Amino acid sequence: MDRDNILLTPGPLTTSLRTKLAMLKDWGSWDADFNALTARVRRGLLDILHAGDSHVVVPLQGSGTFSVEAAVATVVPRDGHLLVLDNGAYCKRMAKLATLMGRRTTVLSFAEDGPVDPALLAQRLAEDPSITHVGLIHCETGTGVVNPLAEVAAICEAAGRGLIVDAMSSFAALPIDARTVRFDALVAASGKCLEGVPGMGFVFLRRSILDGCAGRSHSLAMDLHDQHHYMERTGQWRFTPPTHVVAALACALDQYEEEGGQPARLARYTANFDTLVAGMAALGFGTFLAPEYLSPIIVTFLAPADARYDFKAFYAGAKAHGFMLYPGKLTEVETFRVGCIGAIGPKEMQQAVDAVAHTLAGMGLSRAD
Ligand SMILES: *Cc1c(COP(=O)(O)O)cnc(C)c1O
Repeated sequence: MDRDNILLTPGPLTTSLRTKLAMLKDWGSWDADFNALTARVRRGLLDILHAGDSHVVVPLQGSGTFSVEAAVATVVPRDGHLLVLDNGAYCKRMAKLATLMGRRTTVLSFAEDGPVDPALLAQRLAEDPSITHVGLIHCETGTGVVNPLAEVAAICEAAGRGLIVDAMSSFAALPIDARTVRFDALVAASGKCLEGVPGMGFVFLRRSILDGCAGRSHSLAMDLHDQHHYMERTGQWRFTPPTHVVAALACALDQYEEEGGQPARLARYTANFDTLVAGMAALGFGTFLAPEYLSPIIVTFLAPADARYDFKAFYAGAKAHGFMLYPGKLTEVETFRVGCIGAIGPKEMQQAVDAVAHTLAGMGLSRAD
């Protein structure tokens, strides 16, 4: 079979043939055509957040984590203090990268099976004036839970603290409006809900903090202030750009607009999610999160308790049917995850549920519960 497997993973994810075909051309990184492509992508990204007046967007080579690291390095002063709101694996990653680069970092821990509590943030900020910035993961992809971005942003604004948002798995699908939600930096990447290919991230930086960010980064490659100024001056990326990834993202952005932008994308992911959760429930699969906390980005399912279940075999079975599942990221309970994002619709999701049913039957299980 020459059809690609369907990736039910939250990046890389299934892309359209049109997006893949957009990569069949070589671009010169200095060339005006490529500079125009970069400029078009940056404009398109700003439009999605309604951020053209308030923010700039700075693209950066690498996976999404590179851009989270760059955002922290560029925005948090070397003598600053970052408070990371932690309810999962990606929160812990932000705290770790901030600690490693030598920024004072404090973690405010919450249970993994629910959103972070803005009231506890407000209390902590009132108690500790040394905290300069707050780090928030919008959709914690480790479980799928969505954190209350607007409430957290309002508290940070009222308390006069900066906010860095990792919106990697939510950007372009869940609504975020920079005109009403105040953040210093918001990070996302090419290979998530925009349905581009992986290879670059981008950071929205509030214009009013930009000048103050000069010289904060400990790292040359991670310095978004420098990347931004160079790009403004020359139209070019500072170092070799991921040309084919940018071309694929430009094409993916065209398709995003043609589909109807954020509301249409969210509607399709919600249809995927509904099909998935209903189909899996019929097979006896429970979700790790309570129903009110589930999001149409990624769903964490509890693994069957039966001794005949084994994730490796389960994964191999689903893959043989053409569907790639995602392992769980929780240490306490055995789970697996299924992404709802990517260039797929409810039809593919129903086929994925059928593949899971066949795989389960192949393990001798008629149901998961
Ligand atoms: C995907 C993702 C990242 C980035 O992960 P990479 O493996 O570096 O691309 C960061 N945060 C969240 C919430 C994500 O979903």
